[in-house]
Amino acid sequence: AVEIRGATKSFGTHRVLDGIDLDIRAGQVAAVIGPSGAGKSTLLRTINHLDQLDLGYVKVLGELIGVREHRGRLHELGDRAIRQQRSRIGFVFQNFNLFPHLTILENVTEAPRAHRRPTPEKRALELLEKVGIAEKAHAYPRQLSGGQQQRAAIARALALEPELILFDEPTSALDPELVGEVLAVIKELARTGTTLVIVTHEIAFAREVADLVFFLDGGRLIEHGPAADVIDNPQHPRTREFIGKVL
Ligand code: ATP
Ligand code: MG
Repeated sequence: AVEIRGATKSFGTHRVLDGIDLDIRAGQVAAVIGPSGAGKSTLLRTINHLDQLDLGYVKVLGELIGVREHRGRLHELGDRAIRQQRSRIGFVFQNFNLFPHLTILENVTEAPRAHRRPTPEKRALELLEKVGIAEKAHAYPRQLSGGQQQRAAIARALALEPELILFDEPTSALDPELVGEVLAVIKELARTGTTLVIVTHEIAFAREVADLVFFLDGGRLIEHGPAADVIDNPQHPRTREFIGKVL
């Protein structure tokens, strides 16, 4: 479902992604781990073109993201085409990023309305039910706990029925007692066969839910493989050191 080749990106002279190759098959759950500044968020953001690569490419479901190839060269896509691509990729941010002036229900129906999907309210209510906050449909984000807001953000990410959902540290802004309810929703999604890419510091969660783990450090993919291998039996000294510190 996701194919990344030679992903390279700098901010100024700082190389943040340094030639990353990565493959995730449809239905797999991938966890991206690594220290602060490793490039995890940047990598995730290139998958739906919130950040642009300097070199290399990202394909989602076989389609190049943000660019098209013409006579052997890559050309930037227009806004409309990029919006269309993004509609197939859900994104859940660390800080929820709900629209504060819209109710929870309106937050979830906004994208389906913009894309003229049928029965957006009915579908949104089903999604709010699924993440366990149906009773909050008419409340505003500030009236919800952090865990409820993040579950609303997940419902919003699901509204266009994306084939791929990206999570950037979905629980790191939450009080510890609210982490479990969000992880439970993600775990349920993992069971339904949607492809998930989750940047997380929750190593135990990654071990339990992820099929694949990617360890990034200094913009490089240091080690990757089945969660059981990378987390329980890391091969590279940097991975060992990191896992040792966070477990
Ligand atoms: P964290 O675990 O702290 O979220 P991360 O692995 O997600 O870290 P990134 O956010 O991808 O790391 O950032 C990688 C590096 O790129 C960092 O050194 C960061 O300061 C730098 N960086 C990220 N975004 C920008 C930007 N828009 N402009 C300049 N530098 C940036
Ligand atoms: Mg980050």
